[in-house]
Amino acid sequence: MRSLSDFKGRELIARILSLMDQYKPLHLSIVGGDPLVRYRELDVLLPQLVTRAHIQVVTSAFRPIPLAWAALPNLQLVVSVDGLQPEHDVRRKPATYKRILGNIHAVHCTITSAMVKRSGYIPEFIDFWSANSSVEKIWMSIFTPQRGATNPECLTPDERRRVVNTLLRIRRYRNKLDMPEGMIKEFLSPPVSPDRCIFAQSTHTLSADLRTRVEPCQFGGNPDCSRCGCIASMGLAAVGNRKLLGPITAEHIFWTSMAIGRKVRGIEDAAGQRFTKLRLAQSQNSQPRALPKILGTDFHGR
Ligand code: SF4
Repeated sequence: MRSLSDFKGRELIARILSLMDQYKPLHLSIVGGDPLVRYRELDVLLPQLVTRAHIQVVTSAFRPIPLAWAALPNLQLVVSVDGLQPEHDVRRKPATYKRILGNIHAVHCTITSAMVKRSGYIPEFIDFWSANSSVEKIWMSIFTPQRGATNPECLTPDERRRVVNTLLRIRRYRNKLDMPEGMIKEFLSPPVSPDRCIFAQSTHTLSADLRTRVEPCQFGGNPDCSRCGCIASMGLAAVGNRKLLGPITAEHIFWTSMAIGRKVRGIEDAAGQRFTKLRLAQSQNSQPRALPKILGTDFHGR
């Protein structure tokens, strides 16, 4: 990350709009560091981005969020909160509770082992943010480690089960906890690998230089899928498990579509390479030769 350069001002705006035109995503998440570091650029970008896709800005809300953004359609402002005030203020200064209280749409919190160890912590957190009238949604993820990591934040399997039971119970009476039952239960059987993670396979994560891909998913490195706690991954896994027709689930359609897409892309890449070789051979030969037909075209445009 330290070796990456990022952009500012007009260049940043132009590059992001150009990426949007290139990838045409349905959804764009702008995450940190903190996107509000570039709030002037965001002020110009957001009205244009919301006409192209559903936009999510994830911030620590360390500075006031411009009021005009509240009127933008298709925009979701998510504030990352690290637990209740004592823990959050230590980790997130200057984005303290006091600073963020008036700046919120949706709250996202990553549950760590310490939170589970303290009895009543998660209900207290959800109660606190439910009482804030500007908060519409509360989302909870679970800390996702890299493979082999033993960070103190990691949950034991038993702690994970307790979190699931707690969230299932709270969602019955706190409707701001925007997590369907199916999504919460997915925490107990996360995708086995990035290749089988619908979220990882349907997103394209770019780093601050807007070029370097973060792979295999937004966590980068070698994430431990068996201990994944990403709410987005669980949400898409739950959608994948929806039955559409008899035993056929949305996941069947997704993976079949992915397989067809890969096959077609492989054929296109092979055809492209063959075409380049033929062009090269042709340019080295003064006598133009007839080009063979591949995929119904003879590459002369006929
Ligand atoms: S989002 Fe979670 S399950 Fe998906 S690839 Fe990353 S770590 Fe694995």
